[in-house]
Amino acid sequence: MTGGTRELLLSRIRDVADYPKPGVLFKDITPLLADPSAFTALTDELAALCATHGATKIVGLEARGFILAAPVAVRAGLGFVPVRKAGKLPGATLRQAYELEYGTAEIEVHAEDLDAGDRVMVIDDVLATGGTAEASLELVRRAGAEVAGVAVLMELGFLAGRARLEPALRGAPLEAL
Ligand code: AMP
Repeated sequence: MTGGTRELLLSRIRDVADYPKPGVLFKDITPLLADPSAFTALTDELAALCATHGATKIVGLEARGFILAAPVAVRAGLGFVPVRKAGKLPGATLRQAYELEYGTAEIEVHAEDLDAGDRVMVIDDVLATGGTAEASLELVRRAGAEVAGVAVLMELGFLAGRARLEPALRGAPLEAL
């Protein structure tokens, strides 16, 4: 990625203090989505990473991951598969629970959307604690598919999500633009 693209993307991410609760610095990507040159640049960068890592399918994580992953899939000429919060997919699913700061959450994927022939790039906007990405890699593997990598726009380094994700990556790359 060029320095200019990096600056453009950074300039379109809005920091919102104490949202959705006190102490959280929320990374708001809506200014980036509203700017066609920034959104296109981001889509191009993520699509290039998919090619570099030999992905054959794209998984997007609900909800902002959908917004980024869908145009990347179209740009890369690959299929898009949504990983959703539990209870939102109508077909037969695989379900994975993971730990949150307080309590647990569950995500699901349609079992028929992934199989042994797939090499999957998981895309989301923000890697925070890494819990969501870690659970999604579990789903990808349980479906029989291979992990090409995880690609996010931003990694919140102070939350050490990369370290948490490391074992689940099993050598696959974590790309944070
Ligand atoms: P985690 O499982 O902790 O890595 O959280 C990742 C998910 O939560 C991503 O889907 C993000 O969209 C969202 N998220 C967590 N922290 C933030 C933040 N500070 N700003 C924006 N989104 C966040």
